[in-house]
Formats: sequence, structure tokens, C-alpha cells
Amino acid sequence: MEKIREKERGSAARQWMELVEDVSLSDEELKRRLQDIHRGNLPSFAEIVVNPGCMNQCKHCIYPEDYACHNKALSVETWCRIIDDMYTRLEFRHFIFGGRGMNQDIIEVVKYVNSKYSDVKVGMIAEAFGLEMYWDEIKGLKIDHLDISVDGLKKGHDLQRNREGAFDLTVKMMKKIMEGPMKNRNFKKVAILSTLTSLNRSEILPMFKFFNSEFKVRNFFIAPVTVINNRPDASLKLSKRQVAQFIREAKDFFGELNDAYMAFNIYEDDLGFWFRDNAKDLYEKLKADEDYFEFKEERGNNEFHLFWYPAAINSCREFIMNTNGDVFTGYVQAYGKIPEANIFGNVMRMEGTKEEFFERIVEAPAFDFFVGQVKDLQG
Ligand code: SF4
Repeated sequence: MEKIREKERGSAARQWMELVEDVSLSDEELKRRLQDIHRGNLPSFAEIVVNPGCMNQCKHCIYPEDYACHNKALSVETWCRIIDDMYTRLEFRHFIFGGRGMNQDIIEVVKYVNSKYSDVKVGMIAEAFGLEMYWDEIKGLKIDHLDISVDGLKKGHDLQRNREGAFDLTVKMMKKIMEGPMKNRNFKKVAILSTLTSLNRSEILPMFKFFNSEFKVRNFFIAPVTVINNRPDASLKLSKRQVAQFIREAKDFFGELNDAYMAFNIYEDDLGFWFRDNAKDLYEKLKADEDYFEFKEERGNNEFHLFWYPAAINSCREFIMNTNGDVFTGYVQAYGKIPEANIFGNVMRMEGTKEEFFERIVEAPAFDFFVGQVKDLQG
């Protein structure tokens, strides 16, 4: 018991909460302590947005349509060189590709990683149309976790993805995945990622049930849509009360699945603090661990998790790289042209040791963005 409390006390999330609660800190002290949290908790994986363009037009998309005009793509050769550097200098052993439309470059970079590094974990985020288009090559890749975006059943998914036939194609691709690369172990794990919006709130849980019973999908992740810089349309966002209600429904429901892991992820601190004041049944169960707060419940052979990842320390976990190699905070893709204030550095400039690289990141002027987030929460 004492060990657990010790673990919680030393966690990045607990230290972050102490900063938020200590309004007596000077700006310099606040920044120094936040930098120390980052220094002591370097990212555990890197997420690479290789492709600036996307053929889809999902209603909940955070990327503006002209994203490719503002963000140039690096060549496959350059990404391979960057990955070599990230492996040797920064010691990354887990890369996630995707998060924007699929393209040939992503496949070539994953092939390179597969052929060169047997100890690197590869994650891929994809949706049905991209999977279908590149299936002949994708099915031969070694992928540790394939995260497929599914946002509802036929009505809700097609509506949110803004494309008729999107759900039916997802079902078709899931069948191919389960009968092909999941069976021959090219893919180790398949997960469904859902973005909760006002369009699909009643369809997400039945959709999980469908994929769990029809295809034995076992991993399900949900996050509420984030609106930034008026993207996507604010009407898609549920109220905080509705989100809390959805989480309670998910908590009641998850026992109906079979051998499943379901996680609801919160990335917006105002939602986390709203829970503190208005949804104590959820908030009081959250415990700090590493760079997140977590509440876990088990029923039968299923698990339900509620995670809250505080925004100012989110990059301790995720190291997000733009198509041009810039490292930035999450969600700023909505700006199209990413403001300098949100760019911490670029992976094309990786000279020096791992410690020196990350020291440049926490000393970068953009780090003040994180400081500002904590100050905003202090009011
Ligand atoms: S949500 Fe993803 S798949 Fe849909 S348009 Fe945006 S980047 Fe493309």
C-alpha cells in the first residue's frame, strides 16, 4: 500500500497537479518545476505524421483541407535517416505512423523499420479506405498494433466519416485483417479508435459489441472530439455533462464484452477539473500514475479504464512529429500553418546526445506554451 502511494506521489501527473494547486509559485519557479517533470519523464513513443494530405473529409477532422499547402512532406529517405537517428541517439523503440491519410510513403518507412529493427514496436493508425487502397502491401507489414478509426455503426460512422459505404468497408477490411495478418501474426493487435461526438454517442457502444462478438476485437479506445481554432465544427462537441454520462454508460456496459480492454481518454484539462466539481463519482476514483490519472474497473474478463492525460505533460508520453520533422504539441494541426509558439524543435537537427536534444526541447521558447497551460488552470 505504502509502495502504491509512493508511486503515485512521485508520478508526473501528481507533480503536475501540485503545480496547478500551488498558486504561490513565481513564474520562474513554475517553469523550472514543469521543465523538471519533462526532464524526468522523457517520451515513451514517437508519433509521426508522414502524410500532409488526406483523401477523406471526415466531419470531426482537426486538420484543415489546405494542411498540405502549409506543411511539406519529407522524403522517405529522409524519414529513414531520422528514424535511424531517433533509434540510436534518442533511443526510441516505439513509433506510431498515421493519424492522417494513408499513403505509399508510410508503407515504405514501415517496411524500412521492419527490415532494419527487430526490437522496434510499430503502431499504425488507419481507416478503411486507406487500408483497402494499400491492402496488398499493408497485409505484409509487421505491425504491433493497428488502430482502426471506427466512429459508429452504419448510420453514425458514414455520417461522421462523411462517406457512404464507409462502415460496410470497415467490416470488410476487419474480416480481411482477422483472416489474414492477425491469423499469420504479421499484426499482433487490432484496436478500434472512436471519436465521441454529438453524431455518434448512441452508436459507439453497440459498435464495440458488434466488433467484439463478430470479429473478436478486444481493444477499444474512445476520446471526445476536441475543437480548436474553430475546427472541427463546435456543434459536434458534447457538453461535459453528456461526456460524464457517456462514461457512466460505458462503465455499465463494458461487462457485456468478451475479453475486452476499453479505455476512455481525456486530453482536455477543463473536462478533468469539471469532473472534480461535478462528477465526483468518476473523479474521486482517479489515481495518479506516470503522466496520467487512471481509474480502472474489471468485470468478468473485461477491463474498463478512464484516463486523464494533462495537456502540459502530454509530450512526456507522446512525441509528435509533423510531416516536416517539427515537434509540436497535440491538436495544433487545426491551425494548418503551425504557430512558432507550438514548435519545440525539429528532428532534422538531432546533433548531440539524447539528454542534449531533450534539454533543447524543454529550453525552447515554445515550452512557455506548457507553462501557460498550467497558469490558465491556476486562473
Ligand atoms: S479524420 Fe483522419 S481520415 Fe478523416 S479526414 Fe481527417 S485525417 Fe483524414
